[in-house]
Amino acid sequence: MKFTTKCVHGSNKKYDNTGAVSVPIFQTSTFLHHGVEQSTGFDYSRLQNPTREYLENVIANLEEGIDALAFSSGMAAETAFMELFSPGDRLIASDDLYGGSIRLFQHISKKNGVEVTLSDTGDIAALENAICEKTKAIFVETPTNPMMQVTDIAAVAEITRKRGIILAVDNTFLTPYFQRPLALGADIVVHSGTKYLGGHNDTLAGFLVTNSQDLSEKLRFIHKTTGACLSPFDSWLMIRGIKTLAVRMRQQEKTAIKLAQWLLSHPKVNAVFYCGLPNSLGYEICKKQASGFGGMISFETDTEETARRILENVNLIGFAESLGGTETLITYPFLQTHADVPENHRRAKGINERLLRISVGLEDAEDLIADLQQALDT
Ligand SMILES: *Cc1c(COP(=O)(O)O)cnc(C)c1O
Repeated sequence: MKFTTKCVHGSNKKYDNTGAVSVPIFQTSTFLHHGVEQSTGFDYSRLQNPTREYLENVIANLEEGIDALAFSSGMAAETAFMELFSPGDRLIASDDLYGGSIRLFQHISKKNGVEVTLSDTGDIAALENAICEKTKAIFVETPTNPMMQVTDIAAVAEITRKRGIILAVDNTFLTPYFQRPLALGADIVVHSGTKYLGGHNDTLAGFLVTNSQDLSEKLRFIHKTTGACLSPFDSWLMIRGIKTLAVRMRQQEKTAIKLAQWLLSHPKVNAVFYCGLPNSLGYEICKKQASGFGGMISFETDTEETARRILENVNLIGFAESLGGTETLITYPFLQTHADVPENHRRAKGINERLLRISVGLEDAEDLIADLQQALDT
């Protein structure tokens, strides 16, 4: 089955016999036992629920994994991932990451005795040097949020395989429509389902996907024990969102290319960070390991005033955090998503008062350009 078809028909497991085309929302916390030691396969919704199981099958199918686990948010998924490690263990993570991931690693994980070192995972030699005996995993985001840095997943996988350590890839930006990290050698894929998978700016969700039986068992144990599982209704919203994932990704990328080119030509824009621009740093690697470049663009304006003027004057485009939805949103990483990242770290990565990030939605490109134009020219 092709990817686009999988989005619509993702799992063929049926849970009722009414013929309902839409998967039912099994809004129940518990399940009756018809006799001693007789389970329907469902006992309690923290362990498993039919609506969530259907969704998890769809995600595992799309990412080409053997198991997927649905969490109440992307951060809940990442927190569960960190439960694989014990005090004294070390991890290496990309140095340009979603701000919440940095906050988790530097505050919660550190307090729990797991040291996470941030490194430019795009620099394979430096990455290999940073590995020590205690290193248990490498956590990569590619392309990164917000600077769109690209890491060669297969090259990192070669290192992690050799050392017998875990490679986890946050695939939120490109989704399995454009990039499948497990096929490139990763062991775990992380998602904020809140973004493109859900796709409508209306639901929080997170996923961990794996192709290892051992990791699947460990993660299932953590999932049922710590309990941040996705509700039946939110699972249903995810299933519904994913049906249009392929068409949304295709269209959002088309519009993003137009917008990136328009921004590039604007005199008040100093730099555009979009992997789909042939002269961007990550273009070649992204082209090799993904089938597209997605719908996320960051750009640097000439002055802080210009950046603020855009944020205050956009009408159609929403000034809000988050990404991946049908509505185009513009974010100020310096003061929003990355506000908790130490200032010197932010500045070193180029996250400054002039940097803006756009998540391109499903509006017409001409309307989006007109809105940016009037905001830039006010
Ligand atoms: C949003 C996001 C997260 C966190 O997900 P939530 O669903 O907001 O908890 C993690 N990684 C990336 C790349 C994100 O964009």
